[in-house]
Amino acid sequence: MIQPFDDTYFMKKAYQEAEIAFDKGEVPVGAIVVFKDQIIARAHNLTETLTDVTAHAEMQAFTAAADFLGGKYLKDCTLYVTLEPCQMCAGASYWTQIGKIVYGASELERGFKNLGTTLHPKTKVVSGILETECSQLLKRFFIEKRNLN
Ligand SMILES: [Zn+2]
Repeated sequence: MIQPFDDTYFMKKAYQEAEIAFDKGEVPVGAIVVFKDQIIARAHNLTETLTDVTAHAEMQAFTAAADFLGGKYLKDCTLYVTLEPCQMCAGASYWTQIGKIVYGASELERGFKNLGTTLHPKTKVVSGILETECSQLLKRFFIEKRNLN
């Protein structure tokens, strides 16, 4: 069966990245960047591995996508990320002028929405794609982590 290239299809790819992060003991957030139905960047959170608080999945995905395209703007691209972007990543997305952001789970404390971070005026936002799966993975991670301590 040929799978359609819809938001759910691509969010599954971002989710696979989150699972890789989970297996590494990283907070499981995954992101991909899509350009013309093609995945041009895949990334997951690496803040522990790189001991770098800026190593969020989105930040790395932006860098990889710009590198792939040979230009810093991602106007015709879509970011798929399993968790609502934080202020830093939303701020970075402004500079990329990304065309669309699709996220899975909401982040009520540190997400850009509640904190009122401004996106680029041309950036469309879609939320709640595979929300349950994305948030369950995060919950499982924090439960397991708590049990280890
Ligand atoms: Zn972030």
